[in-house]
Amino acid sequence: MPKTIISVATTGAWPTKKDNPNVPLTPKEIAEDVFACYEAGAAIAHLHMRDDNGAGTMDINKFRETVKLIKARKDIPIVLNLTTSGAANASDEVRMAHIKELEPELASYDCGSMNWMHVAVFLNTPPFLEQLGNVMQEHNIKPEIEIFDAGMVYNALYYLKKGVLKAPLHFQFVLGAAGGMAATIENLVFLKSLIPSDCTWAALGIGKGHIPILMATLALGGHLRVGMEDNVMYGPGQLAESNAQLVKRAADFIRLAGNEVATPAEAKQILSITR
Ligand code: ZN
Repeated sequence: MPKTIISVATTGAWPTKKDNPNVPLTPKEIAEDVFACYEAGAAIAHLHMRDDNGAGTMDINKFRETVKLIKARKDIPIVLNLTTSGAANASDEVRMAHIKELEPELASYDCGSMNWMHVAVFLNTPPFLEQLGNVMQEHNIKPEIEIFDAGMVYNALYYLKKGVLKAPLHFQFVLGAAGGMAATIENLVFLKSLIPSDCTWAALGIGKGHIPILMATLALGGHLRVGMEDNVMYGPGQLAESNAQLVKRAADFIRLAGNEVATPAEAKQILSITR
């Protein structure tokens, strides 16, 4: 039976307790949330940190504390995927310091710049992308190439040719962020058509696009990402009770589709993570 990986993006940089009181913000809350998500079927945890006021931060101490809490649970071998884009004002060096030290199995690689939510520039300069790709290779970290717009796929193919990224690539199509591609099935099918056949990929729809993109991704053979980074609602007018609730629903969809939910070990094998 085909195996489908569930990633959970527990926190992100933006949702607050006002948006949903159940979004985990502190290292302890995030770690406990990750454990519940693992029990519900998540194989990968994509993590962002918040400062003591709840704002997105790249503070290495928060990453250290959270990763330590998660790794202390040897019975929960969930794969870690740390963001490199957790605060708009972070320098290139700060965006890489935590992954050099903590060496997660995966880290996000945002393959181009864009206007973010009509308020800011999400900056990923060519020198940063080259440096980040090289750092990830040195530390044996698999890049999860986040794609918000079609041109970013072509950036990834350029860096593959240049040796900054190594095959097989793994993509995460992020649909529905204002400033990027909308969460439509047509866009998902188009993006999938652009990537080489040896690649692995996952997709998510932000907000209202969550369920349609989840179902289309399953139908197209991709992997899933759920969580409050992307979507704080369970349904119309209904806040998610927890990230685990969203993971459980994704696991139910996977089984309905006739697939199996991948374990962390299986996820590593599927993504060619060699450690
Ligand atoms: Zn993220």
